[in-house]
Formats: sequence, structure tokens, C-alpha cells
Amino acid sequence: MAQRQAEGRRRGLVVLDGKGRRTTGAVWLVGAGPGDPELLTIKALKVFQKADVVVHDGLVSDEILALAPADARRVSVAKRKSRHSYSQDEINRMIVAFALEGLEVVRLKGGDPFIFGRGGEELEACRAAGVDCHVVPGVTAALAASAGAGAPLTHRGAAQAVTFVTGHAAAGKEPDLDWESLARANQTMVIYMGLSQAAPIAARLMAAGRAAATPALIVENASRVDERRLVTTLSGLAEAASGFSGPALLIVGEAMALAVAREPAELTALIQEARA
Ligand code: SAH
Repeated sequence: MAQRQAEGRRRGLVVLDGKGRRTTGAVWLVGAGPGDPELLTIKALKVFQKADVVVHDGLVSDEILALAPADARRVSVAKRKSRHSYSQDEINRMIVAFALEGLEVVRLKGGDPFIFGRGGEELEACRAAGVDCHVVPGVTAALAASAGAGAPLTHRGAAQAVTFVTGHAAAGKEPDLDWESLARANQTMVIYMGLSQAAPIAARLMAAGRAAATPALIVENASRVDERRLVTTLSGLAEAASGFSGPALLIVGEAMALAVAREPAELTALIQEARA
């Protein structure tokens, strides 16, 4: 029976139990980590390998998608300029509908589903529809970026706190953040989705009293082969950010003085050397 149900699920059929009742699948909100497949958790990999359907966004790397079962249905809801991109509401309805058909749905997200990943909205949609929803955490980009750069997010004497903020705001607006509190010294601020807002963010922080010389780090494609890192200061952040196209994090804080810069060309050369 279980085998027949699994087979039915794989073929996208509505699955019935032994008494002819419809069985409900489940949604798994899975954190795929920052890109390097080795940063997937064992749990994420196990859940992924049982998936009937994988619904993923653009941040999930091809190497990770290749680990899904060959017969699992893959649905990309990535935002693309040329094609129709799915609204959050459409994604919510899609994952719920798949689960109600009896499928095991893996909703794969870059980093961690609950860090600027809109996982909370998908969880609420599942709850409202009476669909089981499980969450598998992932390594969020900030952790991979700081690890790669060798710059800790908290550091004795230099960073007593770390705050993750979003730089994204409604078109034409600055993010609504507590600048006074973020301007205090000896703490790290990690800005997700902040490239295009680097200038107003840096200006606000300095206006609120954060020193212009505070070390700052930009990390693009953290944990991927094309990772790029640049070390600057708060006053140089806006100009430095203009040389990146993302996905990238801006990290501001005294502990970023420990960061090591890296250009991908250099990285590629190192990899070639290691292989030779
Ligand atoms: N849930 C994700 C974040 C999604 S928001 C997480 O936990 O990491 C998307 C933003 O995350 C991007 O604009 C960028 O700021 C950041 N980001 C995601 N992956 C990244 C990576 N590999 N390197 C640098 N920044 C990344």
C-alpha cells in the first residue's frame, strides 16, 4: 500500500488510502544554505531526497537541485525579468494544493527559511489549510559570509551583539530601522538585500553617530566558487557597493577589521593550484 501510494504521488496522482480516503501530503520548508552543497544539513538532504515535488527559488544552486530524486517534479518560482514571476500568494496556494493532492512538497529556500525568506507566510498558509508543515533550518548567508571572511559576527571586546536587518523597502523608500540603536559602537549589523540601499543606509548610520571609520565588509555569493569579498569602511560602503550585483550582504562593525578580502580570479587560481 505504502509503495503504491508513493508511486501514485510520484506520478502526480491524487493518493487514496486503503479505505478510499484522500491522503494529505505535507510541506517541508527546507533551508538549502548559502550555496555550497556541503553546507546543507543532513536532515535537509534526507527530506529533499524523499520529495515528490521541489518548489525552489533562484537562490538555490544548481548543484543542490541536482541532489533531488530524478523523478521529483521541480518547480522554479524564481523571480525572472522576462517571465511571469509568482506572487507570494500564488506560491502559498501552490504548495498547499500539492500537499492536498497527497504529495510530499519540499519548499526549498536559500539560507534559512525564517531569515528574510518569507517562510512564516508559507507556514501560516499551510496552517490555515490544515496541511502539516515542517521546518528544516539552514545556514543563513550571514554565517557563511562571516566564516568565509574569517571575521566573527560577535567578538570579545568588539562586537557584543549582532543584528540582521533588511535593506529592502518599498520602492523609493529607505528601510525603517532603529538608526540610533544601530549606530552604537561594538556591535555588528548585517544587511540583507542592501546593495541598492547602501548609500542611504551608510548616511543614516553616520548621521546617527556611527564612526565613518567603522570597518565594513561586502560579501557576494558567499560560500560559492565565485564568492567575492571587499573590505572597506562605513564611509566607503556606498561606493564599494556599486561594484557588486548580488546576492550580497553588507556587514558593518568593528569585528569586520578581521575580514580577509577575496576576488574570484584569485580563488580560481588557488583551486587550480590545489588540483595540480
Ligand atoms: N533566507 C536567506 C535570505 C533571503 S533574502 C538566508 O537565510 O540567507 C535574499 C538576500 O540574502 C540577498 O539579497 C542577499 O542579501 C542575501 N544572500 C543570500 N544568499 C547569499 C549568498 N550566498 N551570499 C551573499 N548574500 C546572500
